[in-house]
Amino acid sequence: MGGRVGIERNVRNGEGMEAMPPCLLTIVSGIITPASQGAIMAVGYVYDPIYLKHDTGEHVENAARLQAIISHLEQTGLKSQLTLVKPRPASVEELALVHQKQYISHIQEVAQKGGGWLDADTVMSPDSYEAALYAAGGVIRAAEAVMGGEVASAFALVRPPGHHATSRQAKGFCLFNNIAIAARHALAQYELERILIIDFDVHHGNGTQETFYDNPQVMYISTHQYPFYPGTGSVEETGGGAAEGTNINIPLPAGCGDDEYLKVFEQIIVPAARRFQPQLILVSAGSDNHWADPLALMQVSVTGFGQMARIIKELADELCGGRLVFTLEGGYNLDALAASVKATFDVLLGDTSIDDPLGGSPRSFGATDIDRLIAVVKEIHKLP
Ligand SMILES: [Zn+2]
Repeated sequence: MGGRVGIERNVRNGEGMEAMPPCLLTIVSGIITPASQGAIMAVGYVYDPIYLKHDTGEHVENAARLQAIISHLEQTGLKSQLTLVKPRPASVEELALVHQKQYISHIQEVAQKGGGWLDADTVMSPDSYEAALYAAGGVIRAAEAVMGGEVASAFALVRPPGHHATSRQAKGFCLFNNIAIAARHALAQYELERILIIDFDVHHGNGTQETFYDNPQVMYISTHQYPFYPGTGSVEETGGGAAEGTNINIPLPAGCGDDEYLKVFEQIIVPAARRFQPQLILVSAGSDNHWADPLALMQVSVTGFGQMARIIKELADELCGGRLVFTLEGGYNLDALAASVKATFDVLLGDTSIDDPLGGSPRSFGATDIDRLIAVVKEIHKLP
């Protein structure tokens, strides 16, 4: 079953128009809009062919993933509606905001020696170090573009992914923790006090959690299949010291679909975000919880990804002037990945419908009862 599902239109357009002098208003097709609306509402995407040069061979995390996304955006005509945010390589100093310098040198050396396996899951080619610099730099640039007002929001289409990488260890296809580096950079560069990271990749972002576990300035909220790779992500991991309560894990049983994810978003993520009052929202977006994904056992549809994106966008609009950056983590069914990313861009552009070419899951798991889990998480984190 497929089709288009209506979602609520965001009413941010036109806000503050009354206060604007007439010279800033233009009439487009009979509708009065602020002259700068095009710039205000621009949605950015980060991409560069360097990301294809992280050559992983037959590995499930390979260049075809980004190629599928870009060609889908082109075929659907969406790419021309987006603003390219050109990535730059992250500097070693920027990587060192999260990673040990010895580890950074090690990754560089492995590439210089022709590549190789860093652990059972994570492989490098000669160009992987450069691609990884641009992946981290790409998410940094996306954050800069949003903070600087070049674009309203952005999606960094980068690889290698990042959320499993720790300060001293490559893990789970990840070399550098792109989103953690970008968050640390944004905290320093813009003197922010509160950044929210939402991670709905099917795997727990152990590296991101570890980076900010004792840091009250960054709230990390993750939904993930549990127990599952990488093993972290229990409800008891709530943050250390002054950061107690800023690490919220929602470990979901296999089989959860759109209904369960939306329940979690509405009952946990939205109230937690409202309480935290972020100044910027970053998202680790994976589509490996799609029902067609080969690596995990969740049942989310493309429609579900669009609905999650809508909730996150509404949170950003409500709490932090719309400042929102998505970055790509996992997602290994190419059709589901490409359609999920497109659905996210549609939401960011303010489209009220979601294209779901794959439809809902053909398998029926029946409703998964997560009410007890939600109650436990709410109690631990004292959420209303
Ligand atoms: Zn994943």
